[in-house]
Amino acid sequence: MLSKLAICLVLVCTVLSYEVFTQIGATGSNTHLVVDGSSSLLIDAGASGDVALMTSFINNNGVSSGQLDAIFITHGHPDHYGGIAGLLNNFSTKVIVATTTIKNDLIANAEAVGDTFDYSIIEVRSSGGILSDLNLSVYTNFVPGESSSASILYNRERNFALVGDIIYADAHLYLGFGVDFDTVRDWRDENLPKLDKGGDLKFDKDTVFYTGHGEVAADQSNISENQDYITFFLETLFSCAGSTFPTLSDVATDLVNEYPDYSSASFTSFLTSNTAWTDAQTAQGDCGNYEYTNSDGSSDNSSGSSDNSSSSSGSFLQASVVVCFGLLLLQ
Ligand SMILES: [Zn+2]
Repeated sequence: MLSKLAICLVLVCTVLSYEVFTQIGATGSNTHLVVDGSSSLLIDAGASGDVALMTSFINNNGVSSGQLDAIFITHGHPDHYGGIAGLLNNFSTKVIVATTTIKNDLIANAEAVGDTFDYSIIEVRSSGGILSDLNLSVYTNFVPGESSSASILYNRERNFALVGDIIYADAHLYLGFGVDFDTVRDWRDENLPKLDKGGDLKFDKDTVFYTGHGEVAADQSNISENQDYITFFLETLFSCAGSTFPTLSDVATDLVNEYPDYSSASFTSFLTSNTAWTDAQTAQGDCGNYEYTNSDGSSDNSSGSSDNSSSSSGSFLQASVVVCFGLLLLQ
């Protein structure tokens, strides 16, 4: 009888122990820690300056140096992978990504900024692998948007998803280098709808999103808010006042004024490397007649008179890579 009671207590404690913790890094990116009994996974590593912060975060949530099973990097942006080198000094663990494309993206970005850490140590777990003890599935079939490649994790049983930078929560969106007109439009029209409650991943309305930036939200309003933000950005970018497109500072100011409560206003400084911005500037002579094409094939012009509403296309499930990881992580 006593042993049965002990077993029950262990089972109950195991069920109750599943938790997700979140730490915001100094540059505004989120790092999440999923813990379930003796299993633990860090989702994203913060920026290079976040190592001490993230080390304390992990330790303070009951995971010591030898206990962290892995660090999973959602996409190849330095505010999400830059802490890897420092964290590996403090934790005996492995670093994993979902696809070779994400790994190569990360390596290319690191080389571009002179980061000499050897990222070839990252393991790609595209089949078999990592997370079944945490019951997390990995979805990777997103088109280039905020980043050129991305992945998310989803626990359907517990109804939450770690969505990386596909979704921001009450934070200015990163629209800098690599986010050109097509990708910012596709972020709005292709990737975000996949996570909507009517979208291809079949999330329900109560799915909790652990976002790459901003406060964790218990609803899906951030999807439409992100879409509205992108639409506002494009409409502002291509709005023709007089005979010229707005200056960069005009666009940044408009974004901050429209979203005064959003964090990460410093992200508007990255607009200088947004090629949609560059396109607008090189098209100054056509201001008033400038047209761009939405993903549904419709044309907008700089008068801002046409519909920029989002639309989903294609069947995600038919083409998606849904990788349910196996049991290898803990071996
Ligand atoms: Zn980010």
